Amino acid sequence: MEKFHLPILQANPFEPKVESKEKELPVEFKIAKAFLYQKYPLSEKGEELRNKVVDVVEALKHNPSDKESLEKLQELKSELPTVEEPHLEMFAELEVSSEDEERFFGADLKVVQVTKGCRHQCDHCAADAAKKVQVMPFAAVLKIAEKAKLGEQEMVRLEQEVSQAFKDLGGDAKALALARQIDRLTEDSAYRSNSKMKHLLNVLEREWDTSKINSLHDWWDFYRVGPGDKRIIDELNKFFRYIEDLPPLRRVKRVYRIVDNDFSNILYALHEGMRRSLLNYYDSDPFDYRDTTFLHQDGKPADYGDVAAALASAHRPVEFTTAGYPKNDAVAQSAAEKIARMPKENLRSPRISLHPYEKGTSQGDPEKYAADMENVLATLAPIKPQVVYMEKVFSPEHEAFRPVLKQLYESAKDRSSVIHGWPGYGIAVSRYSGRAAQDYGQNEVDHDVMSCMSGIRIWPDGTLHRQADEADIYTGKGLRPQPLGKSLYKLKSKQQ
Ligand code: SF4
Repeated sequence: MEKFHLPILQANPFEPKVESKEKELPVEFKIAKAFLYQKYPLSEKGEELRNKVVDVVEALKHNPSDKESLEKLQELKSELPTVEEPHLEMFAELEVSSEDEERFFGADLKVVQVTKGCRHQCDHCAADAAKKVQVMPFAAVLKIAEKAKLGEQEMVRLEQEVSQAFKDLGGDAKALALARQIDRLTEDSAYRSNSKMKHLLNVLEREWDTSKINSLHDWWDFYRVGPGDKRIIDELNKFFRYIEDLPPLRRVKRVYRIVDNDFSNILYALHEGMRRSLLNYYDSDPFDYRDTTFLHQDGKPADYGDVAAALASAHRPVEFTTAGYPKNDAVAQSAAEKIARMPKENLRSPRISLHPYEKGTSQGDPEKYAADMENVLATLAPIKPQVVYMEKVFSPEHEAFRPVLKQLYESAKDRSSVIHGWPGYGIAVSRYSGRAAQDYGQNEVDHDVMSCMSGIRIWPDGTLHRQADEADIYTGKGLRPQPLGKSLYKLKSKQQ
């Protein structure tokens, strides 16, 4: 019996098992059989295909050399979904209204969480990730990718409109009058000696474009923390209110659901948000991903490399952190090799974490951990990942990892772009939440590493969530994803 599921997943009812007598059959049999195990709902056309596939698969299970069934299998071959030919028409559309599309797939989409739960079971896990790993069906990933690409086009349009609106300020009498007044009022202030600051009038008339947004950011900082001259603050207030009210900026506020009058939220949205990355993890590791019901034409399951390729673009690169994978995990290895070949602009800040806390795949064995992570570092080296190095010791088992961590640090030095932390000074582990807090004592004042990735999140089961604070754009300490009461699809609860 051939298996591709994660070692920690026992008895997965959706795992299509290939019995030994079926192994002699052509690979299309395996692909056909996998199609019967789809959890993602099928379209009408997909159900019709399914009925045909059931008959052929059943016949071949009983008699693998049945000539008529083998011929039928070859006839069905061109319709069977594979990673190379996904035939998305065989799968139901996402359940989303047109007004929700901009909200869920536009600039505010932050996480398509393709797995939930984690096989690493690290001692320091701030998420207390579940041991059981839920996996987003690859059909769902592709349907989401389709919508996300449309959302990206909207983002590009909005970015162009915003850029034009700012350029137009250079010929806008009211904006120029406000800028002239602010320049006059600040002429004699100590603030003028700050070489970073530019005359606002110059910024508007000659220098403005969205890539120079820092110029405005400097003014904004001054406005918030400056010397407190009421006249200047009043004028700046008028200036920023005027900009906020430009139609494309009003749209930015609506898209990001910016509910307050804090101009820094708009700047954040423009500066970070218009070219946001898409993350594929939270309480999970994306290299756990595999869909054993959606296969390549060679019979191998869809992996995280396929997911990243489907979701990423230069406009919305994917971003991930991984704690690695076992060297003998062929699916994760294939994913890492694909990711190593991805265009650089389609990835943002790939990260590998090195630490003494991994339990799920290394079983606490430092030598196994070292061998697995050496392979991960070597495989992902072409994309120059950042490495997050942690070594704080909480127990004797952690102490046993120190020599191999130092060795991995040396390997990482040659292969990575940046290493955060070094032997003797590892990155701090937060004990604010999760297992680290439970096992080593909660520390309320520690930073909250799970309060991140503000925006819309899609979970593997299709449910929608959002994480953000009152301003609706940053996350705040202690906040966690909140359900929006909506779902893009309903997975089948058992094989039918
Ligand atoms: S890899 Fe990350 S999510 Fe998984 S158990 Fe470790 S810390 Fe938690």
